[in-house]
Amino acid sequence: MIISTKKGTPAAELDRIIHEFEAKGLEVTLIRGTDYNVFGLVGDTTVLDEKQIRANPYVDNVQRVSEPYKKANRLFHEADSVISVAGVKVGGREKIAVIAGPCSVEGEQETIDIARQVKAAGACMLRGGAYKPRTSPYSFQGLGTEGVLDLVKARKATGLPIVSELMSEDRIDEFEEYVDLVQIGARNMQNFQLLKAVGKMTKPVLLKRGLANTIEEWIMSAEYIMAYGNENVILCERGIRTFEKYTRNTLDLSVVPIIKEKTHLPIVIDPSHATGNWRYVESMSLAAVAAGADGLIIEVHPCPERAWSDGAQSLKPDRFQHLVEKARQVARVIGRDL
Ligand code: PEP
Ligand code: MN
Repeated sequence: MIISTKKGTPAAELDRIIHEFEAKGLEVTLIRGTDYNVFGLVGDTTVLDEKQIRANPYVDNVQRVSEPYKKANRLFHEADSVISVAGVKVGGREKIAVIAGPCSVEGEQETIDIARQVKAAGACMLRGGAYKPRTSPYSFQGLGTEGVLDLVKARKATGLPIVSELMSEDRIDEFEEYVDLVQIGARNMQNFQLLKAVGKMTKPVLLKRGLANTIEEWIMSAEYIMAYGNENVILCERGIRTFEKYTRNTLDLSVVPIIKEKTHLPIVIDPSHATGNWRYVESMSLAAVAAGADGLIIEVHPCPERAWSDGAQSLKPDRFQHLVEKARQVARVIGRDL
């Protein structure tokens, strides 16, 4: 980190600043100039709060030269992390994981049927929301525990690991017991209390990018989970808010190479929530695979017009199967499989 102080900063203040940083275990170099004094700080600067440093009236500028995250940082962990979800591997350079299922769990038999269909089409995990973050309090809120147990039955029938969204700390024990991959939804990406709590779980976490969050904020949320003890984090891009109205969100595919450069964590793309329209889900899936994504998470429903949530972006099983076949061809071109 580089800090410059204003002209006329008293020598006693410069000494005080040096001692303050040294007390935090940092190595401090001071370059005294005629107009400015410049501090170079070396060591673990993730413990420093830039805004707090700027609050000092003598400080003119603060600049980070390293990232504020450590555990997620590729710099300290060169190899790609491969996360095991009940034995299914996500990450690494070979296999691409395809997760599919309905937006909301709608009942036991429905869930078993859809699980069988997505498995036959090539999915390696089943998704389904039992606790739904809905914009309107009058919309369907999810089946709750009953929905989680429906997923468990579908896992028993098919062997597919199950992915579901955790919205609050009071369901942690239920998810720890039943769910294989704990989804933290876009709306909770910066629910720091929840992030700390899942950081103490033993189950891997699928962390979705917030509706309007920067890549750095998203990685910092992964860092929360990792700093609290759970290093099994998979990132999921699901589109961000822009001025564009033709799609529900704007799929930021550039995150794939950026996440790979900055972190060692796997990155999964959700083209369903990103586009909000089933017509665009296949092309964005193929693009995601070509860009190097480690997985796809796709909403599939046997009868989208009757889905309890997100029908407009849900694929019918036969279209999903077509997508998987095409995605497999793209994967092979780049030396991967799916
Ligand atoms: C979902 O996966 O159904 C969901 C609500 O996702 P997001 O948090 O990305 O909106
Ligand atoms: Mn949905």
